[in-house]
Amino acid sequence: MPDSTSLRQLIAAEAKALGFSDVRIGPARIPESSRAELDAWLAEGCHGSMAYMERHADLRKDPALLVNGALSVICVRLPYWPAQATDADTQLRNTEGAYVSRYALGRDYHKVIRNRLQKLADALTKKFGSFNYRACTDSAPVMEVALASQAGLGWQGKHTLALNRTGSWYFLGELICDLPIEADPPIESHCGDCTRCIDSCPTGAITSAYKVDARRCISYLTIEHKGEIPEAFRKAIGNRIYGCDDCQLVCPWNRFTTDGDTEFAPRHNLDNASLLELYAWDETEFLNKMAGSAIRRIGFEQWQRNISVALGNATPTEPIINALNDKKAHASTLVKTHIEWALAQLTAPR
Ligand code: SF4
Ligand code: SF4
Repeated sequence: MPDSTSLRQLIAAEAKALGFSDVRIGPARIPESSRAELDAWLAEGCHGSMAYMERHADLRKDPALLVNGALSVICVRLPYWPAQATDADTQLRNTEGAYVSRYALGRDYHKVIRNRLQKLADALTKKFGSFNYRACTDSAPVMEVALASQAGLGWQGKHTLALNRTGSWYFLGELICDLPIEADPPIESHCGDCTRCIDSCPTGAITSAYKVDARRCISYLTIEHKGEIPEAFRKAIGNRIYGCDDCQLVCPWNRFTTDGDTEFAPRHNLDNASLLELYAWDETEFLNKMAGSAIRRIGFEQWQRNISVALGNATPTEPIINALNDKKAHASTLVKTHIEWALAQLTAPR
């Protein structure tokens, strides 16, 4: 069995070479307080239609159910802040422009992180022999923020995301493994009295500090939620067609972010596209252009649903009303419902 110091040295060197901005080691167990919070959150139904959250709750609460004999979790952060992108506030204020969450402007982080974690595992195997592991990003049933926090990779912000003194514009990844590695200590929270993320949320989804009701969250509504978007939230969605960053954009620690990995630089002008330009895509164009992007996962119907809502929140113009009417003629029932809502907004007396 390799000694912990040699393992830690190799992990640190490899993680750096792979572009991870931080790496910390934590134990392969979830603190009791985090497990209780997950149970209460699920019991209240805050996960909305994400049935898999409930189905996989046991796996989330125990990393050893994912990896036999799990002892340690190697937690990594990969920066994604797209420094070259059109300014987020500018794009959010442009009601004819489409706002796409900063993390989704470039390549799909799932693949990028999994590939790099695999390389990390390969390097460890080469040096120390084979071991049990699983590389995870947020598609695996893992309590990422709890694991990252106990490993000292950051602290949990009041918006529930992990951050440290360089902010929260970072993807998290984990290599759960059966290697005995000395753990890092957790770091202190520096949220203090700040409540900016809570105060800025357009839909009041951060119902109290450290608790997000997904059913109200624009990220959930535009990405995870498959059906109709409840009318109560459509206006607040504004021009956000994929995700929402408001709670992070206001966080004071994000002033100190580092630039993102080049994989996450904007593609297809997603940082400054107009709603009408994206609405004009047919399904083939959507699938082709979104190949290699996390956005492809929501599918064309949801994409059109989201843009229809955003168009309903735009300043009414003839081209926008015409585009909605044209689309309506061939749209699915789901999309049509949102188009009708949008047209009613645009043609209502002001
Ligand atoms: S992502 Fe947006 S809607 Fe969700 S909690 Fe943050 S600010 Fe609120
Ligand atoms: S905005 Fe304030 S409260 Fe929210 S995560 Fe950042 S520092 Fe913490």
